[in-house]
Amino acid sequence: MKRMLWFTFGRTLKSPLGFGRRLLFGAETQYVASLLGCLAFAQTGYAQSTNARLPRIAIAGLGIESSTFSPAVTLEPAFHARYSGEVFNAYPFMMPMSPMRKKAVWVPTIVGKSLPGGIVSREAYESLVHKMLDSLKKYAPYDGLYFDIHGAMSVQGLDDPEGDLITRIRKVIGYNTLVSTSMDLHGNVSWRLAQQTDLMTTYRMAPHEDAMQTKERAVTNLINRLNSGKGKPAYKALINVPILLPGEKTSTRIEPGKSLYQQVAPAVDGQDGIVDGGIWIGYAWADEPRNHAAVMVVGDDQAKVTQTAEKLATAMWNVRGQFDFVAPVGKLEDVLAKAVVSARKPFFISDTGDNPTAGGAGDVTWTLTQILARPEFQKPDGPALIYASIPGPDFIRKAKAAGVGGQVDALAGAAVDARFAGPVRLKGTVEAIVEGDRDAEVEVVVKVGSVHVIVTQKRKPYHKENDFKRLGLEPRKADIVVVKIGYLEPELYAMQKDWIMALTPGGVDQDLFRLPYKRIERPMFPFDKDMKTPDLGAKLVPLSASY
Ligand SMILES: [Zn+2]
Repeated sequence: MKRMLWFTFGRTLKSPLGFGRRLLFGAETQYVASLLGCLAFAQTGYAQSTNARLPRIAIAGLGIESSTFSPAVTLEPAFHARYSGEVFNAYPFMMPMSPMRKKAVWVPTIVGKSLPGGIVSREAYESLVHKMLDSLKKYAPYDGLYFDIHGAMSVQGLDDPEGDLITRIRKVIGYNTLVSTSMDLHGNVSWRLAQQTDLMTTYRMAPHEDAMQTKERAVTNLINRLNSGKGKPAYKALINVPILLPGEKTSTRIEPGKSLYQQVAPAVDGQDGIVDGGIWIGYAWADEPRNHAAVMVVGDDQAKVTQTAEKLATAMWNVRGQFDFVAPVGKLEDVLAKAVVSARKPFFISDTGDNPTAGGAGDVTWTLTQILARPEFQKPDGPALIYASIPGPDFIRKAKAAGVGGQVDALAGAAVDARFAGPVRLKGTVEAIVEGDRDAEVEVVVKVGSVHVIVTQKRKPYHKENDFKRLGLEPRKADIVVVKIGYLEPELYAMQKDWIMALTPGGVDQDLFRLPYKRIERPMFPFDKDMKTPDLGAKLVPLSASY
């Protein structure tokens, strides 16, 4: 420990920019006290004392996809905020011995990531932002900031929260700090977010199998620009593409999303004069002017940056009519009838309207109520159906009292979103009680007729095979698996023998024509038929500045 302090001190004295003694008592000292990766840090400190000065990079960000068409409200604990040294744990490429850790003096502040949900309360947002700004203020100055956001946060009484957040951060860190932002391709790029950001990138795959790779690329770009002395790219081309589509129509696994997104990497990676770029689908379940698709490319060569952005935007516009649901869709009644007689097992059904990973409340009972009402599932030896999942804290309490093997009869769901059906009565045998999941906290499996219903203390998405197996369920052996989800996540996709997305009601209704938009820009595809070809010329966004 002493050795580390000595090296840090030595580096501080030699700092060519004269950041001052404050550093010694700032974030670095905090790490000295808290980090277990002592040796790695000591080595870094040594490198710093003998070689060129390492860039000083802060990490901050908030991520959520929140639906304004859902009655749910997201509060601060949902963000599971990580503070200071804990932030590193959010990034496998930032583990203590990783090469990345040695490339900069890192100042992690706050990174919060919530499951998608309803609108974020203003109080929760302000609380997290104040903590973030205080922390950034405390350990300033910075050469760089890695701004890790999703881009589809909705906050009560506030438009464009990510634009608001980076504008407020800029007031603290100044306008010379290089900001590299990574986003989810279902996020929205507002003009002010683009302006206050210097380097911008987004995922290129949906499902987001490249999420961590994208974050690492954003950080690598930042370090490269700082170390090379090139600093801010001179040009940021942004194109608003007037298309608003659900993620379930724009997966990159199938056409036209597949070929469209395959154009991104060759167009921007390794191109002289271009640093990065991407295509944003945008978020369909919020109602602001920023909700639409976008293309952004950043770099030093004006012609290449603008032409590349225009090429990608035109490519997207040209295939707009080809986007369709990634799997067959149907009314729940028809889908269930088909699944019951199908020889292809497990037959997966997506309960799409209340998909919590898109922003649904996750406690809509409409689909489960319909299932339990069908005669096929009322006998214990009927088709084995797994339903994942429904939150029910009161049900959990009663199930725990009954114990595994006991009988329970209680209500679950519809505490948040009761617009389509009231709480569902679950009368059956408790098959499992598992505690400790980060999201669900407590999970109970109750068998009602031939249906195994997963009831949770708090809402939780079921995306992995092990999410089921740890509850003693075998989805591969089930006849039917119903999941509150849109497109199937990779592990579920790999095990399905058939799959239909049921167009069910909820806060993330897949039928966008049923949603009461008032503030999105018009005309917008697909809402305005026969709209003229929009202006897909690149707009150059000014460099960050106070305004
Ligand atoms: Zn996404």
